[in-house]
Amino acid sequence: MKFGTKAVHAGVAPDPTTGAIMTPIYQTSTYVQAAPGDHKGYEYSRTGNPTRNALENAIAELENGKYGACFGSGMAAIDCVIKMLKPGDEVISTNDLYGGTYRLFTKIYEGFGIKFHFVPMGDLESVKTKVNANTKLIWVETPTNPMMNIIDIEAMAKIAKAAGALLAVDNTFATPALQQPLDLGADIIMHSVTKYLGGHSDVVMGALVVKDKALSERMYFIQNSSGAVCGPMDSFLVLRGLKTLSIRMKQHCINGKEIANFLKDHPKVDKVYWPGFESHPNHEVAKKQMSGFGGMVSFTLKENTIAAATKVLSGTHLFSLAESLGGVESLLGHPASMTHASIPKEEREKTGVVDSLIRLSIGIEDAEDLIDDLKKALA
Ligand SMILES: *Cc1c(COP(=O)(O)O)cnc(C)c1O
Repeated sequence: MKFGTKAVHAGVAPDPTTGAIMTPIYQTSTYVQAAPGDHKGYEYSRTGNPTRNALENAIAELENGKYGACFGSGMAAIDCVIKMLKPGDEVISTNDLYGGTYRLFTKIYEGFGIKFHFVPMGDLESVKTKVNANTKLIWVETPTNPMMNIIDIEAMAKIAKAAGALLAVDNTFATPALQQPLDLGADIIMHSVTKYLGGHSDVVMGALVVKDKALSERMYFIQNSSGAVCGPMDSFLVLRGLKTLSIRMKQHCINGKEIANFLKDHPKVDKVYWPGFESHPNHEVAKKQMSGFGGMVSFTLKENTIAAATKVLSGTHLFSLAESLGGVESLLGHPASMTHASIPKEEREKTGVVDSLIRLSIGIEDAEDLIDDLKKALA
């Protein structure tokens, strides 16, 4: 089945009691049992809820996985993965990482005795040199946020396998519409569902998808034990969002390309980060593992100051200045002071997050209008 068809039908079936075509919002905490243990598969909504389960199945199917688990946020989903580890275990992660993930790893889990190595994963050798007997997890984010670096998932899967470690991929930016990490050898897929999967900037949610049964049991055990689940109303909203994921991503890709090309030729713009350019250092890998380059574009200004960036950031009308990404409406953000403020200046500048860096989450509006908006703000 092609992806567009799957996006509409995955995980959902008419409600057995009424025939309702849309999965009902089972806004309930508990389920009545006829006799102790005699129930219809649901006991308590932290453990399982039919609306959430429909969504978990849908996301698992879209990722070509078998088991899905949804959480109250993307961070809660990442938290579940790290809880699969023990003190003394080591993680190798990309150095150009979502700020919240970096904070969770360094400010919380280092304190629990887990060791994290942050390396530029475009360079396979830098990963291999960190592998040792304690390596239990390789954490990949691709494309990366906000520098749009591309990491070779297949190559990482080989390194992880040889090390006896799990490979987890944060697939938030690409979504299964553009990239299927499990098919490339990953063990775990993580999503900030808040972004493209939800797609309408109205829900905060996370998800994990795995293929392996034993791994799924660890995942569900932690999901139920730690309890960071999402609610049925939010699950319903995301089930609705998923139906248009395929067509939304197509439009995000079209607009991303138009705007990246517009920025590249603009006299005030210095660098443009978009994996679709042939000059992008990892363009070949992007072409190999992605079916489109998405709607995220970052750029810097020739005048590399916060003041110059601020002029652009407050000069747009269609692009709203806000955190987050992946919604139908266009947003722009300033990583140095917003999403990446929790990373020390020295660290962030090493990865390219300089003062004038602006990140665009390009929506599904008409590209001409978006370009017009940026033109005025840059002027
Ligand atoms: C937003 C985001 C997260 C965190 O997800 P939340 O839903 O905000 O908790 C993790 N990774 C990436 C790439 C993100 O963009």
